[in-house]
Formats: sequence, C-alpha cells, structure tokens
Amino acid sequence: MEERTIVRCAAGHLFSVGSFPLQSLGSGGRLGPGRLVRCPCCGRLRSSVPQDPSVLSRAERRLAERRHVEDDVS
Ligand SMILES: [Zn+2]
Repeated sequence: MEERTIVRCAAGHLFSVGSFPLQSLGSGGRLGPGRLVRCPCCGRLRSSVPQDPSVLSRAERRLAERRHVEDDVS
C-alpha cells in the first residue's frame, strides 16, 4: 500500500497526502515545521503539519485517509 502522511491544516482539518517531502524544512523554515498543501476542506493552501498516527483515534485516521489529496503546491 502506498505511503500516506496524515497532516493537519492550520484550520484544524485532518487529511492525508500521497507525498510529504520534508526537505523543505531546511530552506523554507520560515513556514514552520510543515509545508503548504491545498486542504480539501478549506480548498485553500494551508500550512499543514504532519501528525503522528499513533496519537490519533481510529476515527480520525479513517477520516483523514478518506480525505486524500495528491501533493499539490502549484
Ligand atoms: Zn483545512
């Protein structure tokens, strides 16, 4: 199964992305410990932070997996 990363947008929505390269941390550090992803709930680019799946409930994980987006920063 494809690796997915569960993230939380700045407005608090959980969703998952197909790829979440964190090497942008070094050069784009001013955005904080996440990166801009188009949130499927907001429909806007949000600064989104990866979540540790072990701290999420099963319902939260399922919700996030259903709201799956491909990486989209264009
Ligand atoms: Zn959102």
